[in-house]
Order: sequence, then C-alpha cells, then structure tokens
Amino acid sequence: MDLKLYDTLTREKRVFRALDPSNVRMYVCGPTVYDFAHIGNARPVIVFDVLFRLLQRVYGAEHVTYVRNVTDVDDKINARAAEEYPDLPLNEAIREVTKKTDKQFHDDVAALGCLSPTHEPRATEHVGEMRELIERLVKSGNAYVAEDNVLFSVASMPDYGRLSHRSLDEMIAGARVEVAPYKHDPRDFVLWKPSKPGEPAWPSPAGIKTPGRPGWHIECSAMAWKFLGETFDIHGGGIDLVFPHHENEIAQSRCAFRTPVMTNYWMHNGFLQVEGEKMAKSAGNFVTIRELRTGWRDFSWPGDVLRFAMLSTHYRQPFDFTHFSLEQAAVALNVFSTFAYPTAGAKPSNEFLEAMHDDLNTPRAIAELHRLLKASKEGAFELTDRMSRPGAMLIDSDFSAAEQLAAGLDYLGINISNYDRDWTRKQSFSGVSPQLKSKIDDLITARAEARTRKEWKESDRIRDELAKMGVVLKDTKDGTTWEIAR
Ligand code: AMP
Ligand code: ZN
Repeated sequence: MDLKLYDTLTREKRVFRALDPSNVRMYVCGPTVYDFAHIGNARPVIVFDVLFRLLQRVYGAEHVTYVRNVTDVDDKINARAAEEYPDLPLNEAIREVTKKTDKQFHDDVAALGCLSPTHEPRATEHVGEMRELIERLVKSGNAYVAEDNVLFSVASMPDYGRLSHRSLDEMIAGARVEVAPYKHDPRDFVLWKPSKPGEPAWPSPAGIKTPGRPGWHIECSAMAWKFLGETFDIHGGGIDLVFPHHENEIAQSRCAFRTPVMTNYWMHNGFLQVEGEKMAKSAGNFVTIRELRTGWRDFSWPGDVLRFAMLSTHYRQPFDFTHFSLEQAAVALNVFSTFAYPTAGAKPSNEFLEAMHDDLNTPRAIAELHRLLKASKEGAFELTDRMSRPGAMLIDSDFSAAEQLAAGLDYLGINISNYDRDWTRKQSFSGVSPQLKSKIDDLITARAEARTRKEWKESDRIRDELAKMGVVLKDTKDGTTWEIAR
C-alpha cells in the first residue's frame, strides 16, 4: 500500500519514497523551553508521533530516525530566567529554567501517548555545528559580516521564497518596519549576533572577535545536518513556521551543502483554536497541557482524550478545541474500550490502513473505527444469543471486528486496555455543545416570557421546537429544567 503525503513546497500529495529505506529520516521543530507547553504545541507533537509510528510499522522500528530539537537559547528564556531566579547569575538561572521546563514538557507529552523521538538535541550543545555552517556560508558568498552580526544574504539565493510562495515585494513588506541599518537587503536574516553582557555567549565564527550567539533558524539546519545528513526525507512543524523559519532553514542548508533540496517532504499541521478563537494569553483562553491534565474548568482529562479529539480532525485543517470535542472523544473511547478486543498480531482493517496511508486521513480512519464498533456490538449480541442455547461453543465465533478496532486504536497510539472507564462514567457530561446549550437556554427564556404574556400558542410552539432538538422540559415550581432525551 503506497503512503501518500502532502508536501507544502510542491503543494501536492505525492507517493512517499524514502531516500534510504534502511534509514528513513524525519526532523520536526520542537519547543522553546521556558514555560509549560500549551495545547497548540501538543498538536505537532501528536501529529508527527502518529507519522513516526506509521513509518516504524512500514519500514521497521529500527529503520526510522526521528529528530525533534529543543530550543534552549532564546530571548524569552533569558527573560524568564531573570524574572524567576533574580539572585542567580543569568547562565545558572537559564539552566534551571530549561531543565525544569524540559522535564515538564516530557511528562506532558508522554501523558499524550507520544513516543520519545530517536534524538532530542539541544541547541546549546550544537553551537559548534552552527558555527561551521556559518563559516561555509560566508565563504560561499551566501552570508556576510556586519557590525559583529553574520547575516544571510537573501539576494544570493535566486529561488528563496519557494516554500512560502511569497513574492519579493511581499517579503520586503513583511520585513519589520525598522530594518537594521547594516543589512544589505531588508530580507536578510541573522545567523549570528553579539550577546549582550551577561547573556549566554560562545566564540564567534567568521573572524568576529566578540563572543555571540546563534540565530534561531541556524539551529535547525545544524541539528538536522548532524543527525540526518545534508538531505533527508521529511521535515515537519506547525503552519506558522513556514515563513520565515522553514524558508530560512532551506536557504541555509541548501546553500551550505549545494543541494537542490533540504528535505523531500515539508509537512505542516494546521493551527489549534479554542472555541473558534485564536488561543492567546491576552484573550484569556490559553490552556496548557498540564492544566488540561490536572483540571481545566473543573475537569481533569486523561491524555488519550486530547490525543483522540485532535486526531478526529485532519492534521492540515484547523482544530477547534472545545469542551464538547473532549466530551465526544471521552465518550467514544469509553465505548471503544468496552468492545475492542486487543490480541497480539491483529491488524487494522484495510479501510483503516488506506485512510492512514492517504496523507494521515485520521478522520476517515476514525469513521472506520466507528463502523468496526458497530460490527463488534452486533457480533457481541449475536454471540450472547448463541451462547444462551444448549451445547453452544465459543470456538467458531468471529471477533475480527473487535480485534481490528483494538488494532486501529493501537495504530493511533491509543492504549485502549489502559483506558480508565470508571473515569468516564464518573463525569457528568452534558452531551451538549456550548453553542447548543446557549440556544436551548434562549428558547427556554423566550418560552417563559410567552407564558407570562399568556401566549400559550407561542409557548407550545417553542416547546415543540425544543422537542425536535431532543430536549425534554420539566416545569417545576422553581422554574424549568431540561434534559436530553435518551
Ligand atoms: P513554539 O514553542 O512556539 O516555537 O512552538 C512549537 C511548535 O508548536 C511549533 O511547531 C509551532 O508551530 C507549534 N504551535 C504553536 N502554537 C500552535 C497552535 N496554536 N496550533 C498548532 N500548533 C502550534
Ligand atoms: Zn526549526
């Protein structure tokens, strides 16, 4: 079965051919470690974990190398360190912050059912490789030194902008309003810059005397090179990274190695939104993975629930995170865990595999799991019926749907045997989305007003409208309550 993946660079779904099937190589941009990871950060981690598992199944676990870096040099880290540990020297404070955050991140993503990548290199441990790439770029005329900075010269690369499909004018307009005066071209970006006093600093490349630190983009080019070579198979990350981060990674790597491509497939996950809005601290709808696990709006969610909820949307589409999306996922996992029958060696159904091989079409794969659930239920009822007859035997029973269901969940990285069914049963889920709930509340208010005006026809009409929505009203002396008809 061919695996097809959508490539952002060529904008097409193509059959995946590994450069070397004995070592399939994937790089994904990892977190900047200064605070708890949010549920948006969880999306690339989950999506590329699903791809990692798929590749391991197709090529063999030992034939896949997955690298996810850790960015541990960054202005946000410095600011956090100074704020949190004002009495420590900055470098020590930074170590404390990155150590703590790195551990939090690993605990959180393990709870989401994600395997550890093969390598998780830290930027600060690969400054030597970054310096070497910068030296090469200066020698080849693709970079220049200006006021102790090293800048990449965008004009030196004719097809810069191909990944993000941006025109020259768009890129100039996109460059920040105040362009540093030493830049030859507003699009040029930093490979290396001087460190401020007290900041982490390393010996500089290209003959620069003052110590400095690397820019963000060069990190990924250097670590991908070190662990995966000059050209590799798949590079992933969130859609926000296409420009400028990935565009700049391509420029650095291709110019340093004189290669026609950096990677054969560029894959990007869509963004996560919260209840239809962009997630932002300022919008008050910011949710960390830790909060979700330990109590978000009075609920603590098992990691598998977020994983399954996310996979119910295709990875390239925006994912709308809502309380209802978690409820739906929890209820589905609960029923799946009742009927799924894990057995060693069972394989997912063909339809499931075809969906997964079609650019990780997880919504289609999950629809197939629901079909298998239905078949497993029917099989279970038929079996109980048959077993109630005298002389019945278990021997020729068909458990294949229930086995395929378990195998499909396992393929998605969901450990269904461990799913906590008691947990789901103890929750008082409303089974109603917030949008529907507010519509129901509005109708109930309108009905109460019609009744005070003694407009009985109107109040009956509203009751009927609610009944059509499956809402049953109960009028008590304290007011009207409702429930969903079961
Ligand atoms: P950062 O730590 O902000 O560099 O982000 C780490 C990863 O999370 C990158 O691959 C981002 O593209 C991704 N990411 C950040 N926010 C979101 C979001 N709201 N939805 C999906 N992915 C996100
Ligand atoms: Zn990167």
